[in-house]
Amino acid sequence: MVTTEETTRNELRAALAGQVDGEVRFDAGTLAVYAHDGSNFRQVPVGVVVPRSVDAAVAAIAVCREAGVPVLSRGGGTSLAGQCCNEAVVIDWTKYCHRLVSVDPAARTAVIEPGMALDKANDALAGHGLMVGPRPSTHVSCTIGGMIGNNSCGASAQAYGKMVDSVRRLEILTYGGLRTWTGETSDAQYEQIIAAGGQKADLYRRLREIRDAYLPAIRTGYPQIPRRVSGYNLDSLLPERGFHVARALVGSESTLVTVLQAEIDLVEVPKHKSLVVLGYPDIAEAADVVPLVVSHSPILLEGLDDTLISLEREEHLSADALSKLPEGSGWLMIQFGGDTAEEADERAHALIEDVNGEGSHPKPHVAYTEDPQVEERLSEVREAGLGATAYPPGKHETHEGWEDAAVPPERLGDYLRDFRKLLERHDYHGASLYGHFGQGCVHTRIPFELRTDDGIAAYRSFMEEAADLVVSYGGSLSGEHGDGQSRGELLPKMFGPELMRAFGELKTAFDPGNRMNPGKVVHPYRLDENLDLRGWFPREPKTLFHYPEDGGKFTKAASRCVGIGKCRGHEGGVMCPSYRVTRDEEHSTRGRSRLLMEMIRGEVITDGWHSTEVRDALDLCLACKGCRKECPVDVDMATYKAEFLAHHYRGKLRPASHYSMGWLPVLALLASAAPRLVNAAGRAPGLGRLLKLAGGIDTNRELPRFARERFTRWYMRREPHPSGTPVTLWPDTFSNGFHPEVAKAAVAVLEDAGFRVDVPTQPVCCGLTWISTGQLGMAARVLKHAIAVLRPALEAGQRVVVLEPSCAAVFRSDAAELLGSDDARLLAKQTTTLAELLTEAGWRPGAENPAGLHTGARRAIAQVHCHQHAIMGFDADRDLLKTCGVDVDVLDAGCCGLAGNFGFERGHYDVSVACAEQGLWPAARDAEPDTAILADGFSCRTQLEAGHLGRTGIHLAQLLADMLPGPADEDRSREPAAVGTGRAASRTGAGRRRLRPHRRGRGGRR
Ligand SMILES: Cc1cc2nc3c(=O)[nH]c(=O)nc-3n(C[C@H](O)[C@H](O)[C@H](O)COP(=O)(O)OP(=O)(O)OC[C@H]3O[C@@H](n4cnc5c(N)ncnc54)[C@H](O)[C@@H]3O)c2cc1C
Ligand code: SF4
Ligand code: SF4
Repeated sequence: MVTTEETTRNELRAALAGQVDGEVRFDAGTLAVYAHDGSNFRQVPVGVVVPRSVDAAVAAIAVCREAGVPVLSRGGGTSLAGQCCNEAVVIDWTKYCHRLVSVDPAARTAVIEPGMALDKANDALAGHGLMVGPRPSTHVSCTIGGMIGNNSCGASAQAYGKMVDSVRRLEILTYGGLRTWTGETSDAQYEQIIAAGGQKADLYRRLREIRDAYLPAIRTGYPQIPRRVSGYNLDSLLPERGFHVARALVGSESTLVTVLQAEIDLVEVPKHKSLVVLGYPDIAEAADVVPLVVSHSPILLEGLDDTLISLEREEHLSADALSKLPEGSGWLMIQFGGDTAEEADERAHALIEDVNGEGSHPKPHVAYTEDPQVEERLSEVREAGLGATAYPPGKHETHEGWEDAAVPPERLGDYLRDFRKLLERHDYHGASLYGHFGQGCVHTRIPFELRTDDGIAAYRSFMEEAADLVVSYGGSLSGEHGDGQSRGELLPKMFGPELMRAFGELKTAFDPGNRMNPGKVVHPYRLDENLDLRGWFPREPKTLFHYPEDGGKFTKAASRCVGIGKCRGHEGGVMCPSYRVTRDEEHSTRGRSRLLMEMIRGEVITDGWHSTEVRDALDLCLACKGCRKECPVDVDMATYKAEFLAHHYRGKLRPASHYSMGWLPVLALLASAAPRLVNAAGRAPGLGRLLKLAGGIDTNRELPRFARERFTRWYMRREPHPSGTPVTLWPDTFSNGFHPEVAKAAVAVLEDAGFRVDVPTQPVCCGLTWISTGQLGMAARVLKHAIAVLRPALEAGQRVVVLEPSCAAVFRSDAAELLGSDDARLLAKQTTTLAELLTEAGWRPGAENPAGLHTGARRAIAQVHCHQHAIMGFDADRDLLKTCGVDVDVLDAGCCGLAGNFGFERGHYDVSVACAEQGLWPAARDAEPDTAILADGFSCRTQLEAGHLGRTGIHLAQLLADMLPGPADEDRSREPAAVGTGRAASRTGAGRRRLRPHRRGRGGRR
């Protein structure tokens, strides 16, 4: 056999590439991305294989076996204890091996491949009214394989138990090459297996021997609590548990076998639910009531303390849900299920009566709801725990490590009191306490100092004492997340020498050469080895953005990601469109974050800002800001991308698209001298293609059409409105040079609302296109000029209305982050969207003059621009539309895929179109003809047009203008290419009629 030392990485890579149907990746970028899971540890893998099928994974492991190289399976990579990073060949199951193989609704079982994400599996099962019972809060990205690997559970375990309770059979592969189905094994089946001989017989015989040799210890040495996740499940091999080999493997964290397929027991989706929240003066007092609550058989029983809730309040998370909490400083959130609403309701009321009845426990404040939306939001409050507690404002960052210990639920209150004393003794202040109290499992993140030797020594000493404390309560070191490296070393405290020997023998039976995820669970690395942050005092690069949330430090911003994997979700929200298309880790926000962190570290990615690996991973980032809004710890990849591009291309020739699209505002101004000619040239078969090639624009794209007359030109020759509250209407490049009808409609609406509209009289721009192409020096200059032009208006307290959402987002956030000046902050404060201003002003169409008011569109679907989603939100738009009687359905369709320059750039067309096909285009195809498609973003409207769907989008300003009094169809033909449906496109005609053209004496083309 060839040993690791004898095998060069290149030979291994070549063998894998030759024998495995899949992606074989040994490049520095991939190694950097897969060096992390969600834990405090970092280990650089040997290489990564992304098999196209289960059989391909089997072939990959055969190659590793030949080479004697360790292997590690990976699902969502959200593990918190270090069990999903190692110096091994990593098999990433998620890209291709994610099939729901079969469902048997009668038996309530399903066979599922290991790479399928839990939410995806439950979506696929929903049609049968079934679901997988365990539901970790990482349900968006965690996979069936990873859940089996970690014996996962979550809040729903109160009703459905842990993964070990759901696994019926597993198809497994041992490192030695045995591929077989395992499950409960009757004596007769056992005898058959032994009689058949071979590897399986040897293995099963050995398993029986181990079980029988350690029978008393197995029967008595495991704590009998609902949340024992630590250690191997030798107890599943007990005769009274049916010698269940599959369940014995659950929670073995890739250290024993590779799971190829799983047959899972499913549960029925509860028909009706009710929720009670009890508020107590303190979290430990709340915990004291747990046994009483458990006696009412809730399907969920969670605890939350005031530290967590205060942090969520400070960080403005889940504000409306938080307002539903009853008074208190420690809460129990309790859910009941029932076949009917009455049944769920009755159970809730029986509990409320009981907790308020006679007895020694304190009387709680109570909140009760049957509203599924409120319930959903309150459960989000719990799930937001990690995001809220990872970077508490103004305090030390917190870490996992001791984040999921469990004790008997009836002793939880006392345990919490002792645990708090332990934290105080170790000077770890401000850690929040929350978790699955009904099963005695407590979550916390602790402000460990993991950079310095002293800090790490303190962490070790805390971990050892915390383990002693939990063991003294008869608990489990891990009650949810597994042992990995964090708890592996501490397991002897919990299980004692005899069971530890049994674990060692089990490991040898399956993996005699210790090639399966070595150093985790058994024969473990020390808990203070491989720490990601040890000695992490990186030199701070000089940056262009100011990073106010990170104390001005790019290194801190780039290492924000805590690995939850929400950016690997497949539906809902915006984040992360590129991952949804490619399913490659490096195209997720997390992958990019890891790459940037590794770039700063300089070990695997060694050429800093010059790195092509980082550049390539960022290339497919749409800069949509989805992560800024949706990542629980506010990773803002669009900003980091712009920063990286600025450094990467400093002094170098840039891609052609950076010139053509970065300088679009200037080109648009030049094109306004002869727009027809330029439009014709862009569409001429040969010339158009040449222009696109020269500009780095994908040849599949139509060039956007320049307007025949810019909005600013039109504005200058019209008669100004005499009076009203002055507002500045920002002539962004897109509303000015491409869709002037949008800005004209806005003028009409603003004047109807009693405003006097001022428009800057010299060429201005917010710098957006320079920011998105990383030309930050130029962006800063352009922005400073914009602020200088706006200064008189800003100082006069005038609001600046910005119609294009991405430009509004620049004014509201990027400008201050880039310039760091008071001027920029003032600009942010006074910038408003049209909807915000009109809502504030209490405007509704026809308030002043209802005569002649048109109904306009009564129904609309809205594609919220991703920058609006991230920075301004849609609440004001929703309120305004409601006031105007428009029934709006906000699409949960993600980014349109064009995202400014992204979709135009050569090489991005396929990803861009795939994004559109995931949401916007199908929604537009399905929209009723009388339903307007609201799309305030120029990108979104352009992408709609590009789909040739027979539908176009309109800006909110147009939809509102269409309601104003005045003839609807006047002189429509003279308008620029109409956008929108029906009359909505024509109302700029009304604007023109009402605001007579007026040619000023001076002032030329702008
Ligand atoms: C913020 C946060 C919240 C969390 N909340 C919960 C929670 O509520 N409940 C909970 O239980 N956990 C929770 N976790 C932990 C983690 O998300 C879960 O354990 C999850 O189920 C892991 O799934 P995964 O696909 O990410 O697994 P991974 O991290 O990819 O893998 C988990 C383990 O399984 C092994 N594995 C993966 N695939 C296979 C395979 N095919 N064969 C053999 N072994 C395999 C891996 O090697 C690894 O050891 C949380 C984590 C985070 C970061
Ligand atoms: S980028 Fe955000 S959502 Fe993605 S893994 Fe990191 S912390 Fe989680
Ligand atoms: S900006 Fe958008 S594409 Fe880029 S990482 Fe964030 S969510 Fe993904």
